[in-house]
Amino acid sequence: MAIFGNEHRLVIVGAGFCGATIAYKVASELDLPVLVLDRRGHVGGNSYSKFDDETGIEYHQYGSHLFHTSNEAVWKFITQFSPFNNYRHRVFSRHRGKTYTIPINLMTINQFFGTDFDPAGARAFIAQQAAAENIEAPRNFEEKAVSQIGRPLYEAFIQGYTAKQWETDPAALPAEIISRLPVRFGFNDFYFGDLYEGLPTAGYSAIFDKILGHPKIKVVTGCDYFDVRGTIDPQVLSVYTGPLDRYFDYKFGELGWRTLDFEIERLDVEDFQGAAVVNYADIDVPFTRIHEFKHLHPERRHGNKTLIMREYSRFARRADEPYYPIGRQDDKRRYSQYKKLAEAEANVIFAGRLGTYRYLDMHQAIGAALNLYEKKVAPLLTGRCVKSDGPESDDLQRQSSPSLVPTRNAGVDEVMERRPRARSDR
Ligand code: FAD
Ligand code: UDP
Repeated sequence: MAIFGNEHRLVIVGAGFCGATIAYKVASELDLPVLVLDRRGHVGGNSYSKFDDETGIEYHQYGSHLFHTSNEAVWKFITQFSPFNNYRHRVFSRHRGKTYTIPINLMTINQFFGTDFDPAGARAFIAQQAAAENIEAPRNFEEKAVSQIGRPLYEAFIQGYTAKQWETDPAALPAEIISRLPVRFGFNDFYFGDLYEGLPTAGYSAIFDKILGHPKIKVVTGCDYFDVRGTIDPQVLSVYTGPLDRYFDYKFGELGWRTLDFEIERLDVEDFQGAAVVNYADIDVPFTRIHEFKHLHPERRHGNKTLIMREYSRFARRADEPYYPIGRQDDKRRYSQYKKLAEAEANVIFAGRLGTYRYLDMHQAIGAALNLYEKKVAPLLTGRCVKSDGPESDDLQRQSSPSLVPTRNAGVDEVMERRPRARSDR
């Protein structure tokens, strides 16, 4: 029984940035009707935000979402739905009762060691500390970090935070993870180095309402695809952005994810911590960071109250929301098994963060979706010749990181634009 009618030409599972972008392109450029399903009670996926009734502050329900990109096509796409403010993200780290700037930069180094180095002096000093351990070919996260910043900085800002965030000894984590965090020998303490950065002035939900408000798009929230799959015509093309292992009923076992628990508190103070995100580096503090959302929108008038959110990290069980792919050896093996099945699945394209088991930032999810629309979805829907360059999961793999581990330095932007990124000067 076709409970959603049978006029739609594309079914999209998941109303996050990946699903919404593809839905909008098909509706607006091909003028074809699209059905979007999401099991949550809202659209927006993990980028969802809402305004708090008590304080009037917009908060990001799944953790602070900072938009940044160097990809012109992505920026052009997203800014047609909303203006962005000029917020630039800075992060601070608390260690033994003091606050430092992160990523590690000249100010962090001088403050931590009580020195007054210039850039060249700091570089030489850190190189000396790093050389003390004689690590020539780092084999894991800890060795890589120590070989780059030396043990004192590693133990202060990285070891405890990482052990809390990944619930794993840093010596057992892949080295790639630390590549996401640059080390700088100047005073630049901006977290990102992209050409464009900011927050949507009316909030992320307003963007999703505009994208998915297209008259050719029908959205059904609170609807799990697996509860209605039998009612959907298998001949209709689907884009599935839910978890890859769930689609195949965990046939080869579960892929490893980290989940987060968030604890919201409303306080009768105007400014709790003076910044949007403060990390807690010490292992004896149970949470990894505190978000204070009002700082993301300096252009707004906020009252005398504030809303903060503590973030705790742990391994995801099946019932938890999967947030960060862990990418251990057995995950990589399982992923290849699922990928083979995904490639063989007729009329279904696997996409997005969950469907390809990749850490994708928002701009990467949008970039990959724009690419997927051009290369696969539009040709299949219009009968144009499909480029024979393999399944979508391969496309995404090439566009994002070469490993399963999230990296922010080698993302879709570089592959799509062949433009060097400025985030790290390591
Ligand atoms: P999602 O947004 O996860 O959307 C997938 C959707 O599919 C979900 O809504 C889910 O409910 C739905 N779904 C799953 N299974 C089913 C089913 N069976 N039936 C129906 N629907 C289903 N990116 C940045 O650029 N900047 C940041 O600062 C940033 N911070 C982040 C912080 C955290 C804590 C996390 C977890 C992510 C962060 N990201 C950030 C990444 C960002 O959230 C992702 O890039 C984005 O969510 C990817 O979009 P997506 O559509 O692939 O997946
Ligand atoms: N990291 C850390 N201390 C910090 C910030 C980051 O040790 O104050 C490490 C941590 O292992 C993290 C990685 O650097 O997973 C990459 O940082 P990023 O901010 O990209 O991590 P995210 O919060 O997105 O996982």
